[in-house]
Order: sequence, then C-alpha cells, then structure tokens
Amino acid sequence: MPLETKHEIDPPPVAVPSTVERTKLIPAMALGFVCRCPHCGEGRLFGRFLKVRPACEACGLSLDGHRADDLPPYLVIFIVGHIVGYLILKIEMGYDLPLWVSATLWPGLTLGLALGLLQPVKGAVIGLQYAMRMHGFETSLPPRPGAEETRVGSGDTAPAAGIGRV
Ligand SMILES: [Zn+2]
Repeated sequence: MPLETKHEIDPPPVAVPSTVERTKLIPAMALGFVCRCPHCGEGRLFGRFLKVRPACEACGLSLDGHRADDLPPYLVIFIVGHIVGYLILKIEMGYDLPLWVSATLWPGLTLGLALGLLQPVKGAVIGLQYAMRMHGFETSLPPRPGAEETRVGSGDTAPAAGIGRV
C-alpha cells in the first residue's frame, strides 16, 4: 500500500539542541571586551596582541571560527575619531597650546587609544558573534568548567547526614 509507506519515511534529521546555555549578548560582549572567553569567562581569548587562540583553554570552545575581520578597526576608528576630534575642537578653541604640544599630544593620544582599544573591541566583536551564533559559533557548546562540581556540591543531603551523625 503506497499510503502506509509514506508514513514510514523518517523525518529529516534535526539538530539536537545543546543542553549548555549560551551566554547572553551583553555579558558575552563584556567578557570579550575584557579579553575572556565569551562562553565560560575564564579562558583567555588572545594568544598574542590580536591573535585569537584556536580554542578556549578552560572550556574548549572553538574560537577559530570567528570572523571579526575589519569590524574591530572600523569601530576603533569610529570611537577614537569621535573622542580625539571632540577634544581637539574643545581644547584648541579654548586654550592657546604651543605648536609642539599640539603636534605631540593629538597623534600620541590617537595612537594610544587606537592600540589600547583594538584588542578589547575585537574581543567584544567575537563575543557578539558567539552570542548571535554567527560563523563558527553555531555549533553545540562545550560544558563550562566547574559546572559538574557545583551540581555535585549543591546537594543538601550531606549536611543533613552530618547532623544525624552528631
Ligand atoms: Zn571558555
């Protein structure tokens, strides 16, 4: 019978949802901003200045699937341009700075802010991609380190047993 064979066809395979909860957008970006793994918050994100580690050393989350690309420098230019541009206008209009001060202060401040913000902003972009399941982060997540320990330690049978013995 043709109708019965239709019911025997297996449904298409559905991806099994991970039991490990994904870090929310803002906390994941904040963890990335302080250069920590957006999943567990313990492992370091960068091996060198802007070189992202292949995987988190604490939880094993694969980090090499990120595609931060040109967004971090673009955002840094946007942020630093607004800060330094505002300060140049405010200070140069209000004070009569010697030329050598202007010639060293503004390029130095620009360079310092740009280099200082590149790593945190790249970390935040990776945290955003992780939270939004973009690129290499759509796969299932590894368990967080210490998750099993808290589950074992949170049982309230041990104190009761201890009281009974005394
Ligand atoms: Zn981690």
